[in-house]
Amino acid sequence: MQDKSVRNRKRSKRREILCPRHACPIDSVSKKFTLFADQAIQLQNRGVSRLNALTLIASQRTVHLSGEWVEAFWCDRCQKTEWYHIKRIDSGVSHRANAYEVSSIPQELWKQVTGTIDPTGNASVGEFTKRQSRMVGFNGVKDFNFTR
Ligand SMILES: [Zn+2]
Repeated sequence: MQDKSVRNRKRSKRREILCPRHACPIDSVSKKFTLFADQAIQLQNRGVSRLNALTLIASQRTVHLSGEWVEAFWCDRCQKTEWYHIKRIDSGVSHRANAYEVSSIPQELWKQVTGTIDPTGNASVGEFTKRQSRMVGFNGVKDFNFTR
């Protein structure tokens, strides 16, 4: 069953994202909505030093956060669709499949979601559009190449 070709084919499609209540696999029912930071504290919370975070926000205004996003999932056991904040956890072992941290979405995180998602009826889409043109890539702390 775990023959190599099958496993590889599966891995490209299936992600190990589990219901935080039931620890069972859940099915995506939306696209991924990526996140951005526009305040230094949001980067600091992800392990960037205060000075680097302030510098980056000052120069770029908005920074795309890779490795985390917001996505809706259906859980068979919850019998409902729920939005979750997904964070890819780097296992540090390149050939191992990624693990994901699944958590509910605090109200303030919705302000950092890209695109026109509006599950609560009060996302500020217009505000995002203004920022989007200044968006730059951010590949996580590891690729964050401020060495001094
Ligand atoms: Zn569930």
